[in-house]
Amino acid sequence: MTGPPDDLTSWPELPEYAPCGLLVTEPDGTIRLVNATFCAWTGYRAADLVHERRIQDLFTVGGRLFHHTHWLPLMQMQGSAAEVKFDVLHREGHRVPMLFNAVARQRGMRVYHQLAVVVVHDRQKYEQELLLARKRAESALAEQQKAQQALARSRDELAQADRRKDEFLATLGHELRNPLSSMHNVLAILRRQSSGDTEMDRMHGMLGRQVDYVTRLVSDLLDVSRIAQGKLQLRRQPTELASVVRDAVEMVQSSIDSAAQSLTVSVCPEPVELDADPVRLTQVLFNLLHNASKYTPQGGCISLCVATDSDCAVISVCDSGVGIAAEELRAVFDMFAQVPGSAERSQGGLGIGLALVRGLVALHGGTIEARSEGPGKGSEFVVRVPLANDRTRREPLPPAPEGQSQKTPCRIVVVDDNRDAAESLAMLLELEGHDVHIAGSGLAGLELVRHCDAQAVLLDIGLPDIDGYEVARRIRQQPWGTKLLLVAVSGWGQERDRQAAMDAGFDRHLTKPVDIHELTALLRCQGSA
Ligand code: ADP
Repeated sequence: MTGPPDDLTSWPELPEYAPCGLLVTEPDGTIRLVNATFCAWTGYRAADLVHERRIQDLFTVGGRLFHHTHWLPLMQMQGSAAEVKFDVLHREGHRVPMLFNAVARQRGMRVYHQLAVVVVHDRQKYEQELLLARKRAESALAEQQKAQQALARSRDELAQADRRKDEFLATLGHELRNPLSSMHNVLAILRRQSSGDTEMDRMHGMLGRQVDYVTRLVSDLLDVSRIAQGKLQLRRQPTELASVVRDAVEMVQSSIDSAAQSLTVSVCPEPVELDADPVRLTQVLFNLLHNASKYTPQGGCISLCVATDSDCAVISVCDSGVGIAAEELRAVFDMFAQVPGSAERSQGGLGIGLALVRGLVALHGGTIEARSEGPGKGSEFVVRVPLANDRTRREPLPPAPEGQSQKTPCRIVVVDDNRDAAESLAMLLELEGHDVHIAGSGLAGLELVRHCDAQAVLLDIGLPDIDGYEVARRIRQQPWGTKLLLVAVSGWGQERDRQAAMDAGFDRHLTKPVDIHELTALLRCQGSA
């Protein structure tokens, strides 16, 4: 123990080397006892401090001020102070941050202050590290939140881009349908005029195949985007699978013939009845057969086989073509999927055919699977569709009324702001023997229908003044307008477009390019009515 014995002799011994500094001071701060630990921390000898210095003499100016304004009043008023931080000046001049705890004690007649002191270097370091760790955690959290926000943003952007893509495809399809419609009509007219001329027939055939190809691409694109949006609806009816197979084979026969491929079709002898949309199912089989031909070299073999398996029809389309690698078997059904290397062997394509096929099969409640033993070993696509059962079997559609095959001329008004589309359709209908007038706007069309006493009106929907729906409504309000055949001829072919046309008073909704056989059949009915 360092310090004079005087009246402090009975004071409990102050541990010299305690892990904290220990001091006893007079109430004015004069140091009376100090242990070796404190001396070691401050660089002083006890003799330099005891009776020589007040504790506040060791503080910085700020510390001395604080000691005067806060420490002393605190000690006077409550007799203690806890965890007060002072920077103590080391003998060599640098600061040593210390935490002071003090309590006033009576010894005989006098009051002393007992001080316990710890260095807070480490604590500060620890606090700083904690602070740093907290900052790091906070910034990591902020980063994570930013990343989550960016993810949510890109998810939104992706969904928006997907929506825009579908809208774009729908608009693109619509815009392409007008020119395609004119091309179809003009081609049909040219074909009639040139029958007998082999060279012209050959060229028309070529042109016809290309126009049909583009038309198919456009409708496939639209169908795929409609399926993606859940907007495609089947028109189910009792369907005999053999007739669907016949239609699909007929459609694909010319591609198979021109590649000198052989096609074998085997259908089980008993009728296979489905509750299906025959047009869509034909589209499925046509796509599979068309691919089989596309991805099989000249002279190759293709087969189509129909069988039943408990409650399913099983249709398999096999080819001896380029085959598919095992790892690609699933991916071929994805939208825009094209197996690397197969594109150059085929005649192009967008990679939507199989996505469409899978979507249509799924709408029928069926499944499709691709099989191949690998590149060069041919492919097989197996479609399963549920057979019709008592629950799904429907009444067959009524047979077509008799006499439809007779030609009966009709007075027709064609209303379309696309001049080429209107004129080419008019010419085609005139060749069928009808009396056709055209108008380029809704109001002009309305006037024309009124004046020429039309029996049928073929109305485009998007018109420059009033739209086709409004024209239809106004016609239906007239006494002369109730019996007219009103046909919407539109580039928009979704179910809701059909419904809107029906609501506006149309009898039928046809999608451009119009199937001229369907249209003439409709007009025949009207002419003979
Ligand atoms: P595409 O327009 O490219 O033919 P599809 O969706 O019809 O698009 O087919 C997707 C891909 O699947 C094709 O690009 C081709 O690589 C592969 N594929 C489809 N059918 C066959 C087949 N019968 N044989 C080999 N590969 C095929």
